[in-house]
Amino acid sequence: MADTDFLRLDDTQLDPEEKLVRDSTREWVEKEFMPRLQEHVRQDGSFPMDLVPQLGELGMFGANLEGYGCAGMNNVAYGLLMQELERGDSGLRSFASVQGSLCMYPIHAYGSEEQKSRWLPGMATGELIGCFGLTEPDFGSFVTGMRTRAERRGDNWVLQGTKRWITNGSIADLAIIWALTEEGVRGFVVETDRQGFEARDIKGKFSLRASVTSELFLQDVEIPNDNLLAGVTGFRGPLSCLTQARYGISWGALGAAMACYEEAVGYAKDRTVQGGALASKQLVQEKLVFMLTEITKGQLLSLQLGRLKDRGIMEPTMVSMAKRNNVDIALRVARDARDILGANGIVDDYQAMRHMVNLETVRTYEGTHDIHTLILGEHITGLRAL
Ligand SMILES: Cc1cc2nc3c(=O)[nH]c(=O)nc-3n(C[C@H](O)[C@H](O)[C@H](O)COP(=O)(O)OP(=O)(O)OC[C@H]3O[C@@H](n4cnc5c(N)ncnc54)[C@H](O)[C@@H]3O)c2cc1C
Repeated sequence: MADTDFLRLDDTQLDPEEKLVRDSTREWVEKEFMPRLQEHVRQDGSFPMDLVPQLGELGMFGANLEGYGCAGMNNVAYGLLMQELERGDSGLRSFASVQGSLCMYPIHAYGSEEQKSRWLPGMATGELIGCFGLTEPDFGSFVTGMRTRAERRGDNWVLQGTKRWITNGSIADLAIIWALTEEGVRGFVVETDRQGFEARDIKGKFSLRASVTSELFLQDVEIPNDNLLAGVTGFRGPLSCLTQARYGISWGALGAAMACYEEAVGYAKDRTVQGGALASKQLVQEKLVFMLTEITKGQLLSLQLGRLKDRGIMEPTMVSMAKRNNVDIALRVARDARDILGANGIVDDYQAMRHMVNLETVRTYEGTHDIHTLILGEHITGLRAL
């Protein structure tokens, strides 16, 4: 296998526990997940749900959270976990990111003790699946236009609205729904068997096919006040969840890039053109050099971000830079790898094109590439272009 540890981070930067998490996750993905992937990619919009208990048992849900059955690993180990899941497929990493960063994190950060004990242990094992409802049909990048409303009715809240592009929507037991109230945006835990809640899957996706994506309809859904995440008001709530998930994505994208790079190196060495290995050609070598250089730079970015996160001094703008850069380079790596594979690159016996089209989604969700550009532009200039 081609070595992606060019700067010897293994020996100099990672501790034994971090390496153990990475290596054991890689082994599980190769042994259990990869043999199942193709059937789900071909089906369009499904996930091997029978593997979920194993993911829970291995501590992959909410892995960087403390207590309530969570693994409590540090943020570099957590990042390496995301890297290895996405080395398999972005759909697998999305499943874990949504469950951990977007659903368990807000309950952990903003929920009452009673809410944490009620939901988190079951989510850690995978017995309870969550989804995160922020995006709406008419509002993606600018959720400030949100139309979903929650109104007080006695001791209860009544929710009304539509959420779209929601990962795991139709297979979730709980939905974290962000809705406008008189006090501003609030987060609610909505059990999906409540009357008035409906989820319909979005079909025909070219990207993230081994993942369920749904539209959620909430029509007069009544929930008790006990389901309100009382610890946060305003867009700070959902944005803080996105910061957690984007951090994981910065690592995950590198996993996809590594898979493509390794495949391209192996293929170029084996393939003979004009009497020599494809890998001996200068133009091919230039592509491989670009891939390894960008992967290495991305590793340094995510690693430093993880160390800062562990010290509690990671800033959202830093996460914007890492998400924006690492997804962008991963997509370019995947495209170059696909190119090196020639015609073989377009069939699903090889990985590059699947990663490439997956990464188109990853470029769009969790803040598009251009939105992160504008966030960083404002950070540099002090002038808001958004
Ligand atoms: C497979 C998949 C899974 C998803 N899962 C979830 C989920 O679980 N939960 C959830 O809430 N959401 C989810 N999303 C939604 C995702 O977060 C949104 O698609 C994303 O925020 C972009 O919103 P949009 O699609 O409405 O695009 P838009 O906001 O309409 O943007 C379209 C284009 O315009 C650009 N643009 C927008 N505004 C500006 C501007 N001011 N200046 C310059 N360019 C601009 C954008 O960069 C983009 O290129 C998912 C999406 C996909 C595809």
